[in-house]
Amino acid sequence: MQTSSPYPMITVQAALAAILERAHPPAPVEVDFRQAQGLVLASDVVSHEDLPPGARSAVDGYAVTAQPGPRTLRVVGELTAGHVSSEHVEPDTAMRIMTGGLLPPGAEAVVMVEDTRERDGLVEVEKPARPGENVHPPGQDLVRGQLVLRAGARLGPAEIGILATVGQTRVPVYPRPRVAVLATGDELVEPEQEPPPGCLRDSNRFALMAAAREAGAEVVWHGHGRDERAALERLVREALDAADVLITSGGVSMGTRDLIKPLLADLGEVHFGRIAFKPGKPLTFVTIGQKLAFGLPGYPVSSLVTFEVFVRPALLELQGLSVVQRPRVTVELEHDLRPDRIRLEYQRAVVRWQADRLVAAPTGVQSSSRLMSMIGANALLEIQPGEETLPAGSRVPALLTGPPEAG
Ligand code: AMP
Ligand code: MG
Repeated sequence: MQTSSPYPMITVQAALAAILERAHPPAPVEVDFRQAQGLVLASDVVSHEDLPPGARSAVDGYAVTAQPGPRTLRVVGELTAGHVSSEHVEPDTAMRIMTGGLLPPGAEAVVMVEDTRERDGLVEVEKPARPGENVHPPGQDLVRGQLVLRAGARLGPAEIGILATVGQTRVPVYPRPRVAVLATGDELVEPEQEPPPGCLRDSNRFALMAAAREAGAEVVWHGHGRDERAALERLVREALDAADVLITSGGVSMGTRDLIKPLLADLGEVHFGRIAFKPGKPLTFVTIGQKLAFGLPGYPVSSLVTFEVFVRPALLELQGLSVVQRPRVTVELEHDLRPDRIRLEYQRAVVRWQADRLVAAPTGVQSSSRLMSMIGANALLEIQPGEETLPAGSRVPALLTGPPEAG
């Protein structure tokens, strides 16, 4: 058994930089905007028209000329949304108009139906009508040539709505990265099975598949390999044939059956094999041709936290997203907290509003085997290494993995 790792220990920042400089989105594809939900836009979108194209009524009422006081006007017709009228409105006439109706020629304002009384073809207007009152001027919502969506935006409900509004029905988007997840370990059994002594159920494979999907990737392959070189090599090759990104769990530590690091090193180029990070020191990053491979540690918390901090940004970068990092905020510790002595530690925590401040409490024992430390967590506290206990009230940076809880 080796007693020291051949890989130098690098910082979290250096590790992230090494990953992100090698993650590039592939060529965009064009899809119908109806199929584009959740995908990332590859080009800017511009409006080619004014919206509304002409002045439109904002209310149900009467289109009139601007006038200073109450008066009685002759009703010359009715205009509903989607129709136009060439009938001219004069100082002594009014046209009934519905919300969204295009203002007829001569009209300068709309009086709300609530401020009128109509009888025998005449309408009494109780209030003055100022120019432009209750009218949406042309171009109020969009002007021709206006940038409406930027490349790098994920297409959610409002973005899909804007694409429909401007008539951009074909959109260039980045394809979802194809991900393969390989869990390794002789001790692993399927979730349906009763683990014999010394064994446990494989949870990483399913947690990592869920995390990859949540990050916008498509899981195209997954499997479990025993700690045996030839079998692992066959599975890794199969996974890399199917996917752009390989995520393995386990087999990257210093044990005699930790075969993933040397295997990946034989197949590609190792960019780092050790980071000053807790939980997950042995995280390994390798490129194999154009493909990215991440060797994640086996402990369930280590594998999910290293996914969160290192793999997720890579998957977002591969989708062309303009923002790949979680929001970083400053939070106040609710209790004393003991830092790790040498490594930057990411503690799972619940962050909540307390009046106008964000306060944080770690989710109990932070052991890397204790997956329960991630249940309910909405943040990772970034705790710098040190000898001194941080007293309650200390301010520390946190990555928000979910919205803060209400106070
Ligand atoms: P390893 O990094 O391969 O030495 O794994 C460390 C420990 O993590 C193992 O002893 C297991 O307890 C646990 N472990 C490894 N892989 C998995 C997995 N896929 N699901 C759940 N626990 C795992
Ligand atoms: Mg193992």
